[in-house]
Amino acid sequence: MDLIDSEPVEVAIVKGETPKENLLNGIEKLGGISKYINNGDQVFIKFNLTLPCGFPTNTNFDVIETIVKACKKAGAKKVYLGSFPFKGVTIKAISDILGLKKYFESVEGELAFLDNSNYFYMKGFDSKKLKVIKNRSFSKVEVNNKTFIVPKVILDSDKFISVNQVNVDPLFKLRLSLLSSYSIIPNRFQEILKKGENFQSNDQYKQDLISNIIDVFSIKKPNLVINDLFYVLENAGPFIYKDSNLTKTGIMVLGNDAVAVDAVTSKIMNLDIKKSDLILKAEEKGLGLADLSKIKIIGENIKNIDLIIKKCAKKLDEIKLQNFSIKTGNLCSGCFKQAYHLLNLMKTNMTKDLKYITPNNSFLIGDDPPDPNNISKDNIILFGDCAISSTRKKKFKVIIKESKKKRKYKANKKLLKLSGCPPDIFKCIKLLLNFYGKRDLPMLNLYSETVASYTPEKITKKLRIWEVG
Ligand code: SF4
Repeated sequence: MDLIDSEPVEVAIVKGETPKENLLNGIEKLGGISKYINNGDQVFIKFNLTLPCGFPTNTNFDVIETIVKACKKAGAKKVYLGSFPFKGVTIKAISDILGLKKYFESVEGELAFLDNSNYFYMKGFDSKKLKVIKNRSFSKVEVNNKTFIVPKVILDSDKFISVNQVNVDPLFKLRLSLLSSYSIIPNRFQEILKKGENFQSNDQYKQDLISNIIDVFSIKKPNLVINDLFYVLENAGPFIYKDSNLTKTGIMVLGNDAVAVDAVTSKIMNLDIKKSDLILKAEEKGLGLADLSKIKIIGENIKNIDLIIKKCAKKLDEIKLQNFSIKTGNLCSGCFKQAYHLLNLMKTNMTKDLKYITPNNSFLIGDDPPDPNNISKDNIILFGDCAISSTRKKKFKVIIKESKKKRKYKANKKLLKLSGCPPDIFKCIKLLLNFYGKRDLPMLNLYSETVASYTPEKITKKLRIWEVG
């Protein structure tokens, strides 16, 4: 932070043959790693660790290895690496599947189990011991009257480096370093809770999310920020979905100010900085520089780079699922984001299932969504509390059976409610399997079993007990 406050804001744009070459070249252009790391420093490297999928959902390991080795060469006494994964997933589960702990040890780094999941399988933890470890691992930090729990290993490190794999993002168009910084706090504290009458109509979800991301970012600004866009998951991204596409740009952007690095990255990726709420808000709060004319840009000429990246679908009905109609009412960013991922997950993991389930399925989302195509025949999925409450009196909730003598009213059994504000994706998958039956969704069942193998119920409980899930 001292460096950012006293040094000019510098951003390097580098282009090369490999990510490793780019990183070394970029650091050199910025003055060498010793400008950032001193002898004896404890370094924390924040990287992307979302799911046990590897690169490019997570950060490229070639890049991680290169930066760890550079820090060690500069004299760092300890290099920790970490991030909080996707909700319900532990760091230990990802580490076990990808062999991360051993791998980082082999390059002289250390995986930080920020969620304490390395303790989850140990026996003999009474509440006293648990409290001691929790107190030892986390600090409470107050920002703008909000309390965040932050791992002490991050707060106590002398230097903080952010290595962000750039992919497209359904809410913010691109996953840049400001957005990535949000996962230095546990999932529980990342969640946006519904409050106020106009939560949906004002898109309060997104406003609160932006405000929280900025507050968390302000807790510990990185000394060195790397946006790795050598490869980018475009189109459906940011995870590996059926319609995601890996595109090679050969470019990396790095510097000493996250806001500036994100602003330069946005510019070369054709994103209007004036429309980026996150970057503008961070600049407004004095957390960095977004004015390109004031940033010292070195390396490639920014005017010569014009990357055309296919962004995520702006509307949910652009995600085409066989035998599914998507009916959208007024919705906020919370349901949009969750439904975006659920629909892409279904498209990716249910290709064959979707082909053979009954032809009429309607997915209703948001406040006051349009009616299903065929009220009496459709399977109807109501996604989110707004869709559930606003359709309470709709005709399709009831099936009328007429006979000569009387008329009978029955609750429509072809109706599935996916509650939540917004709903949880893993819970939605379980409810979909119950509704259609495992026999009709063998592919989704296989996916669900795979997820369950690394998110077993007892571990989900532990995440809650340890207050990180
Ligand atoms: S249910 Fe969905 S659309 Fe409605 S307020 Fe909550 S997140 Fe927004």
